[in-house]
Amino acid sequence: MATIGLIGGMSWESTAVYYRLLNEGVRARSGGLHSADVLLHSVDFAPIAEMQAGGDWAAAGAALAASARRLQAGGASCLVLCTNTMHKVADRITEATNLPFLHLADVTARAVKAAGSKRPLLLATRFTMEQGFYRDRLKAFGVEALVPQAPERDEVHRIIYEELCRGRIEPASKARYLAIVERAVREEAADGVILGCTEIGLLIGQGDCAVPVFDTTALHVAAALDFTAELERAAA
Ligand code: GLU
Repeated sequence: MATIGLIGGMSWESTAVYYRLLNEGVRARSGGLHSADVLLHSVDFAPIAEMQAGGDWAAAGAALAASARRLQAGGASCLVLCTNTMHKVADRITEATNLPFLHLADVTARAVKAAGSKRPLLLATRFTMEQGFYRDRLKAFGVEALVPQAPERDEVHRIIYEELCRGRIEPASKARYLAIVERAVREEAADGVILGCTEIGLLIGQGDCAVPVFDTTALHVAAALDFTAELERAAA
């Protein structure tokens, strides 16, 4: 059986969702007592978050490369990095092993294109919204993501680190996120929303929005299940 290698813990609140969705996905696909074959390396997020805030991406990349090597040594068949933000150091991770790496921006871009969304709003950490590593990767697929205005970005970012990554789901923050989405739809013709941080699905979802919602956590899980199913078919 193919084994999905998860680099998680950033934060564990969303890694727990990955774990649940992977298992629910296998149950839906295979039934009975089937569950996901997963290897998880869950890091301590506090030092990683300090590296992010201090701009020490080299140290963060080295830490996640080490995580990838541990998963390969443990027998993982592929690597799934359970955070959009840390895809900033995706190259360090892919260089560290010869395992297939399921890049979250690629998975997201394919879903946005398939749905026909032309101007999706990207909600994410400030790193993901403001630096090139994610939006440029979307652009390579022809997806031009909008981002919220600067004060809105500050709030989206703050709520991720101060609330969602700490297990706090606040109704006022949900209302704030939805107001940001509604403004972008009304004033900038946004025609979709990318939940480009793996915790945001804990706060808002498709039921809250009038435009299509692209939840990167759920999309990544589906891509991992498709990938391992294909590996197993090929090996059979
Ligand atoms: N899980 C988040 C993401 O998808 C944010 C936490 C982090 O900085 O890794 O970007």
